Amino acid sequence: MRHFLKYTLSALLVILTFSTLVSLAFGWVWGLGLLALFMTAVAARDTWHMMTLKRWLQQQMGSGYQPGGTWNQVFSQLYRLEKHGEQTQQKLREALERFQHAGAALPSGVVVIDTADRIRWCNPSAEKHLCIQLNQDRGQSLTYLIRQPEFGAYLKAPPSELPLLLRRVRGNDLSLSIQVVPYSAEERMLVSHDITQVERDELVRQDFVANVSHELRTPLTVVGGFIETLLEGKPLDEGTQRRVLLTMQAQTQRMQRLVEELLTLSRLESQLYSTPDDLVPVNVLMQQLVQMGRQLSQGQHDVQSVFTDADSVLGSESELLSAFGNLVTNAVRYTPPGGQIHLNWRRERGDGIFSVQDSGIGIPPEHLPRLTERFYRVDRARSRETGGTGLGLAIVKQIAIHHDSKLEICSEPGKGSTFSFRIPAHRIVPK
Ligand code: ADP
Repeated sequence: MRHFLKYTLSALLVILTFSTLVSLAFGWVWGLGLLALFMTAVAARDTWHMMTLKRWLQQQMGSGYQPGGTWNQVFSQLYRLEKHGEQTQQKLREALERFQHAGAALPSGVVVIDTADRIRWCNPSAEKHLCIQLNQDRGQSLTYLIRQPEFGAYLKAPPSELPLLLRRVRGNDLSLSIQVVPYSAEERMLVSHDITQVERDELVRQDFVANVSHELRTPLTVVGGFIETLLEGKPLDEGTQRRVLLTMQAQTQRMQRLVEELLTLSRLESQLYSTPDDLVPVNVLMQQLVQMGRQLSQGQHDVQSVFTDADSVLGSESELLSAFGNLVTNAVRYTPPGGQIHLNWRRERGDGIFSVQDSGIGIPPEHLPRLTERFYRVDRARSRETGGTGLGLAIVKQIAIHHDSKLEICSEPGKGSTFSFRIPAHRIVPK
């Protein structure tokens, strides 16, 4: 500003001095005439700049224009102002973009609603959770779109810390936890969380507890009943006494097996547990498995093994033995006497496949997708009779996951089944 005044005053001083000098030399008429000429030129120049400035402001033409003199400073300051405004706008644009990106990435749904519950804004998760489309539904009342009465009542009620549980909003199959957060006099924020998986897990947990209790109740009832009989002190003949004790032994063994398998499963499912990468020779495994199969079968089946490649597998020997052993045990259990059981190791496009093929009772196709669920059995009574717990294939599946492998099942009722454990190439070490 000081610079601007200095420049203007010195220009005026120059004009006045020059006019005075002309007055002294040629008379005051010339002097005044010259002064008037100067002033007209200055006025004309200022008018010109004024017009240019107006045009510049209208068109936001930016810097470029440099008229010189005092106007230079006016223009450069205006330019700086405009530049600053542009930078502020850019920063605001970036902040808005950041906010929009963060909103879009949020797994929780966020809907901003006004005092009449009309949608002002929402993020993509909210669109998915509540089946709304911001483009179409902006300005629409949320209670009009979501008709469940409990939702309307929740929005009307004073804000609560307790979330509302909503299921099947507008026909989708999600379970949502909804909470309303007031943050200004004109707007409220509705936050939705997808709790479908949490609910499913809880259901699985409840199912699991019910199954374990049920599995333990039967042997406990049997053992408890026999203990009562023995306590009554009624004389039992030697044969009956032996039968009672053998049944009690079988039931306690059953409970023991169940608890052991539950512990194995829980250890395998624990995220803290990691599988070692030992070099496990397939031929050693096969020999142990054939021996185990023949022992279980007690000569009732024809148990054979076929393997040509003496590969090794990178993994846990005890886990692989446990998984393959379960498949062999099932083959023996579900194949009537006189049937065949073939253990096979082969390579297919680099993968190693261990399979157990039996000529047993087979499995109806509708049961195949659920076989690896804990406690799932096709025929509960038959499984119990043969000492099954319903956990064997669940254990095999966990071990397969640990070895990046897959369990494939082919079966035909009355003809037999083939259970194949497919190990990927990166875990196979050829001889
Ligand atoms: P279980 O202890 O009952 O054998 P599993 O988890 O090992 O439990 O197997 C689940 C069910 O799958 C069994 O109850 C049985 O119905 C069926 N199953 C498994 N293996 C065979 C097989 N080789 N042949 C026929 N059915 C089988």
